[in-house]
Amino acid sequence: MGSREKKVLSLKQRAVEILSRLKHLYPDATCSLNYSTPVQLLVATILSAQCTDERVNKVTPALFSRFPDAESLAIADLEELENLVRSTGFYRNKAKNIQAACRLIVTEFNSVVPNQMEQLLKLPGVARKTANVVLAHAYGINAGVTVDTHVSRLSQRLGLTEHTDPIRIEKDLMLLLPQPDWENWSIRLIYHGRAICKARSPVCVACELADLCPSANKPTVVG
Ligand code: SF4
Repeated sequence: MGSREKKVLSLKQRAVEILSRLKHLYPDATCSLNYSTPVQLLVATILSAQCTDERVNKVTPALFSRFPDAESLAIADLEELENLVRSTGFYRNKAKNIQAACRLIVTEFNSVVPNQMEQLLKLPGVARKTANVVLAHAYGINAGVTVDTHVSRLSQRLGLTEHTDPIRIEKDLMLLLPQPDWENWSIRLIYHGRAICKARSPVCVACELADLCPSANKPTVVG
């Protein structure tokens, strides 16, 4: 076995041990966005860019009460839509993308959110992160690993990737983790990022991953 294979194997063992501890630490971890249908999950996920899930959950009850499905969002008055999502930030762009995505869902996909990565990526405002969330939580399909700011930061600190680009981080993680665990990895890492491994001040002394983490107790850590 070459040294690269050995390195990947030991990284895999560490990743799987981290995964097992995360499952133990956050047994009930789940998607924290509120939604009732795949299209509502898609919309909530688009709104969650550069915004907390908590803030999105404050906005979506009124939004989904007024525009509950792809058909109604496709023909919504854009200004009204913008006002409903304003507090999530970048609201003009988000409203425009939500409407354009819903129009395409209505015209190209028979008003049903597609369940294939390739088709989802055709929707305006939808990149792999959003597509992975929708596939996993609306359809139970692990097509990739969702890489948001927490997953990106923690995967780097834990030494599981040397990349900063989300697509390359995702590829590294897909090599290291069992496919059925791809989405639950992300969800649990997000929980750990919020609770312990915070962006500015990771609480390494309270971290149950410290013995597996090359960044533990370092004065400066990436992210
Ligand atoms: S040991 Fe520190 S840097 Fe490593 S995962 Fe835990 S909190 Fe983050």
